[in-house]
Amino acid sequence: MPEQRAVRAADRQVGAAPRGPGRQRTDVAHVDVAEGAHGDADEKPAAPFPVGDARTLRTVAGLSAAGLVAPEGRDELEKVAARYAVSITPVMLERIRDGDEDGGVHRQFVPTADELAVDPAETTDPISDGPFTPVRGIVHRYPDRVLLKPLLVCPVYCRFCFRRESVGQGESVLPHRDLERAFGYIQDHREIWEVILSGGDPLLLSDRRLSHILERLDAIEHVRVVRIHTRVPAVDPARISDALCDLLDRGTPVWLVVHINSAHELGAEAAAALRRLSRAGIPLLSQSVLLRGVNDSTEQLETLLRTLVRNRIKPYYLHHADLAPGTGHFRTSIQHGQELVAALRGRVSGLCQPTYVLDIPGGHGKVPVGPSYLEGDEHVMTVRDPWGGVHRYPPAQDAARVSARA
Ligand SMILES: *Cc1c(COP(=O)(O)O)cnc(C)c1O
Repeated sequence: MPEQRAVRAADRQVGAAPRGPGRQRTDVAHVDVAEGAHGDADEKPAAPFPVGDARTLRTVAGLSAAGLVAPEGRDELEKVAARYAVSITPVMLERIRDGDEDGGVHRQFVPTADELAVDPAETTDPISDGPFTPVRGIVHRYPDRVLLKPLLVCPVYCRFCFRRESVGQGESVLPHRDLERAFGYIQDHREIWEVILSGGDPLLLSDRRLSHILERLDAIEHVRVVRIHTRVPAVDPARISDALCDLLDRGTPVWLVVHINSAHELGAEAAAALRRLSRAGIPLLSQSVLLRGVNDSTEQLETLLRTLVRNRIKPYYLHHADLAPGTGHFRTSIQHGQELVAALRGRVSGLCQPTYVLDIPGGHGKVPVGPSYLEGDEHVMTVRDPWGGVHRYPPAQDAARVSARA
């Protein structure tokens, strides 16, 4: 029972990250992550991560030098950056500089003073991962699948991140002991059919560490599918090497869910990276967050979804933006989201249609919140077509016969 599990999980929750202004900020540079990885002194440090590019922008001074923020607002931005990590990879910087006409890429990664405004409805753990954390690194909300978060760092930091209070903060990589405990938990719970590597961005791990995790999961018989949630193919496409593709294709089937919010994020290098993944037989899905000024017009959303499908990515979820602190300027209304989704239904290929979902605050799970097309009861229903026309179902004649018989 999910309820029972929630209580048990809450009882057993350990090692929450320190919160508040006093917490230690992690230097998100790759070397730090690589050498501190799993906190395991007897393990050799992994090779530096490809995202550890010295050109990656991680400070307000860096953003300013790159011309991404105005000098006047720097004091406020320092406050934002002291609270929420900043990182923009060279590839994303290039996308921002080259043809980001509607500012959709800029808005996602460049901090603004708007982030200092916290709405009363916003919370540090908007979808309640905490109470569903039975051991560190695991979130177990649904019976047949768990999240495994092997690290809490990302190549870029999204300004609307729903885990912004834990990702890019005090902790970086799950210590070896905790990772082992997480494998133990998965091993002990035979109902777990799928393990979703999330974080943080799992593709920041070195090939060696990633293959260790995949091999361990491979050895657990009841785990039949592994899913990886990542932004790497778009923000650091060079990381998608042939070696990585090989590794993903070695054991238990891996599905990759790529987080992309605007068509312009996908440059030529990203397209090539996605091609390598699909040639390796890795099924590609996307998740996007509905964001004001990024993808909240029919045109922007349509362009995004068509671009995904052209790159062999099946749009999976369109998330309503979670109630993370300081993200109100990104959130649209659910009604607006429904209107967008309805507008797409009539005019865009079914391949391009994602499911619009809300992750219910409190940890109650994700549900579709798109428009409903049906009304009525079992005797007479009406159904709305993609262009707004309303029809009886079954059609009038049959319905009359049915009610005559009743
Ligand atoms: C989103 C989420 C999943 C994945 O849900 P799907 O509907 O299978 O994509 C699994 N576990 C947790 C805790 C989640 O938040």
